[in-house]
Amino acid sequence: MTTLPSLFISHGSPMLAIQDSPARRFLMELGESLPRPTAVVVFSAHWETIGNPAVSFAARPETIHDFGGFPAALFDIRYPAPGEPDVAARVAALLEQAGHGVRRSPDRGLDHGAWVPLRLMYPDADIPVLQVSILRGGTPAAHESLGRALSGLREEGVLVIGSGSLTHNLYEFRGQGMDAPVQPWVSEFGAWMHERLHGQLHEERRQALLDYRRKAPHAERNHPADDHLLPLFAAMGAAGAGARGERLHSSYEYGVLAMDVYAFA
Ligand code: ZN
Repeated sequence: MTTLPSLFISHGSPMLAIQDSPARRFLMELGESLPRPTAVVVFSAHWETIGNPAVSFAARPETIHDFGGFPAALFDIRYPAPGEPDVAARVAALLEQAGHGVRRSPDRGLDHGAWVPLRLMYPDADIPVLQVSILRGGTPAAHESLGRALSGLREEGVLVIGSGSLTHNLYEFRGQGMDAPVQPWVSEFGAWMHERLHGQLHEERRQALLDYRRKAPHAERNHPADDHLLPLFAAMGAAGAGARGERLHSSYEYGVLAMDVYAFA
């Protein structure tokens, strides 16, 4: 069994599902470039719980269209990948062993943070998918800990993905064109993250990343709330101690959304 990297994927706008872009073309090739996973576990920015994480146990997760104001074509999309309750039970047990209380969610479907990138990576929808929630108001370190609890799953062929966005200011996103020039406060933040994420994640870098909100330039402007960055720390944690990060893709959309994808192994 090949050990898989963990991934952080910037899912950007829901339009990623249907609108051509460099990030979309990259994701369409990403699935083929990795060993085929036995199952996919997604920490999505679009599933938040309070206090403890939740794990989705649905055998046939429905496609959740958790967005508004987008074309009807987006609402017609279904991503019928099966769930995998056995892997969900393993995930819940590993999180509990690591000291996290876990809520088991029997009916939770796949939100667009999961299905939009997965439909590009695995269009046949034949790899089981389950989700783990992020913690509303949780720290980067708490999310690194959630990911770390699952690091052994990578050796069993399970692909752990954090799905969010390297930058995510929706107030400044509105009204921008897809090809709008990149704002300096966005690219400066992206460059700071890249300097620390690309290469060996030694302790000094790791601590800086976990404290990004105080240390990175324009951190609060890029993440007024940090729900879209927290999945990054879960992906980092899932690679285990001493991992290396690699930026697989970088592009910008609407002048303010960094679409970077990182692998950790
Ligand atoms: Zn999102």
